[in-house]
Amino acid sequence: MEKIKNRVKEISELLNKYNHEYHVLDMPSVSDQEYDALLHELIHLEEQYPVLKKNDSPTQRVGGVILDKFNKVKHDVPMMSLSNAFNDEELREFDEKIKKVVGPVTYVAELKIDGLAGSLKYQDGVLVQAATRGNALIGEDITTNAKTIKSIPLNVDYKEDFEVRGEIYMSKKSFIKANKERANNNEQLFMNPRNAAAGSVRQLDSKVVSKRNLDMFIYLMIKPELHNIKSHSDALQFAKNNGFMTNPHTMICNNIDDVINYIEKMTKLRDSFEYDIDGIVIKVDDISLYEKIGYTAKSPKWAIAYKFPAEEVITKINSITFQVGRTGQITPVANLNPVIVQGSTVSRATLHNEDYINERDIRINDYVIIRKAGDIIPEVVKVVEDRRLVDSVKFKMISKCPVCDESIIRKTGEADHYCVNPECDAKKTEGLIHFASRKAMNIDGLGERIIELFYNDGFMKSIVDIYNIKEHKEELMLKEGFGVKSINKLLQSIEDSKQNNLDKFLFGLGIRHVGEKVAKVIASNFTYIKELYTVSVDELISIDEIGEVIAKSITEYFNDPVNQNMINSLEDLGLNLKYESNVNVKEEFAGKTFVLTGKLEIYKRDEAKTMIEDMGGKVAGSVSKKTDFVVYGADAGSKLKKANELGVKVISESEFVDLIKR
Ligand code: NAD
Repeated sequence: MEKIKNRVKEISELLNKYNHEYHVLDMPSVSDQEYDALLHELIHLEEQYPVLKKNDSPTQRVGGVILDKFNKVKHDVPMMSLSNAFNDEELREFDEKIKKVVGPVTYVAELKIDGLAGSLKYQDGVLVQAATRGNALIGEDITTNAKTIKSIPLNVDYKEDFEVRGEIYMSKKSFIKANKERANNNEQLFMNPRNAAAGSVRQLDSKVVSKRNLDMFIYLMIKPELHNIKSHSDALQFAKNNGFMTNPHTMICNNIDDVINYIEKMTKLRDSFEYDIDGIVIKVDDISLYEKIGYTAKSPKWAIAYKFPAEEVITKINSITFQVGRTGQITPVANLNPVIVQGSTVSRATLHNEDYINERDIRINDYVIIRKAGDIIPEVVKVVEDRRLVDSVKFKMISKCPVCDESIIRKTGEADHYCVNPECDAKKTEGLIHFASRKAMNIDGLGERIIELFYNDGFMKSIVDIYNIKEHKEELMLKEGFGVKSINKLLQSIEDSKQNNLDKFLFGLGIRHVGEKVAKVIASNFTYIKELYTVSVDELISIDEIGEVIAKSITEYFNDPVNQNMINSLEDLGLNLKYESNVNVKEEFAGKTFVLTGKLEIYKRDEAKTMIEDMGGKVAGSVSKKTDFVVYGADAGSKLKKANELGVKVISESEFVDLIKR
């Protein structure tokens, strides 16, 4: 608990610092994604440990501060922030929560313009006050500056008193122009249009403000019911009718699916807008529901800001550590300040090997650009050189295995280092984890944590030990967190795995260069594992898809008496080491190509893939005329669309289940 308390304190302090830099100095020192990741972590910690939630926590306060150089303005209605969603799942959660309270609703989806919030008050049809958001309750009076903004009407036809709010921003064009001028005058450049707009609005000289060409889109009306306005879309129309600028890309959406489609469309158009947008804001249209749906301390529950997933994000490398894989391969890993990349938090990124690091001159404490390679594994793309510390030190590869402390080698012509100690604990545990994994022997309940625990206790040092673990049942039951039920379940899945087909076992052995596909090819060609004890490289090469490197690796493995002994023992323990081909082949699947898309709910992707393959089908990554079936789950996008365009048969996940059961 003490550790968590310290982390909460640490994040809170960092967020306060970043807020000050961003909102007061207009000079952020970290990327928005890094800020968002920390805020996200803090929200989760406070949800898990409510006692640690303080009234002045950054999760409870709007980030701005009021500068003394302007008069202060107390807002009649607080200028709140918005809570964030980073992916479709979080949007659906937002929708579910609303539905639970008020049933299905219509939404208004709008561009989230990247500027700063402003409020405008009119009396008798005249602009009387403009203010910044400040700390939500009190803002700064920027009336004189606002009057220089051409899209803010000074007079309107409507004569009742009213207040509207919106985003003051600088277009991309004006931003470039402003920075050119600053460069000519040897002034520090604005980091982005948002900082430029915020800095400009808080200029004391309104002549300068007028030159900056700011604009304002109105996105909210305060107390619309006083003006007989019942929906947010009508409020926007009211603003438009009175000469305010409203964003033309706003759209009414009948449900959350329409919102998600709108987001997809706007994401594509994003770069074509004249101004920066950093997301989409979704609001419930029916204003009469707002009170019922309610508010948190900081934001309304009837609106949410979806933040665009950043593909490349800047963050800092705090340390470089080394992972030892099952083949002994040593992979350097960058431990990062957490950031949100493509909708999920990333705190580690692979650095691949020594060459990769040296080619990019990556160092500890460097700020780096990271990206998700193939959208899954985060990697460091390059160093942000002008943020490097003066005393930074060049990276040096380790010379000893970080786990067993034995020497490591790098063979000529190879980029990777390997630990050569066959007794290295890391190699052994990683090997066991791989053996039990879903794509290999698929032993339910025997995951990374349990294997490490059993390994460290000495119960499970080898694959043979997995199948002898039942001898230790009594001892295992004494362990914390294990009951009779969970142990029996584990023993049963170990027992069940004995019947797996040979390809699963072969893949599970973790032989270098023998992946899932090669294992299948080998198993279907040899059908009994002991045939591999005497197989020659030439014999293997004669098989389609098997090259020399794979062939050598296989013969080396099976010639080794240690490996042969292990396999013999496993056979004695009752493992099936024969290949039974075509056991499950089904007519509907045989020779057919499937593409899986969207979020599958009944099966995991891998499971669905294995089933299709077992029944004689193939799974491809993209849709073409050759595709026979596209199986779609929730949120399916472009692949489903393409299938429909090409006239490929599309089936839902439940239809797929029916096909299997047929
Ligand atoms: P926010 O940016 O998450 O969203 C609220 C704001 O969105 C509103 O106040 C409004 O100004 C704006 N907005 C734009 N279009 C809108 C529309 N159509 N309808 C309603 N509102 C609209 O919240 P925030 O509190 O202003 O700022 C927090 C964000 O700022 C963080 O999530 C982070 O990305 C960034 N930030 C970065 C740092 C940093 O150091 N890099 C520090 C603090 C904050």
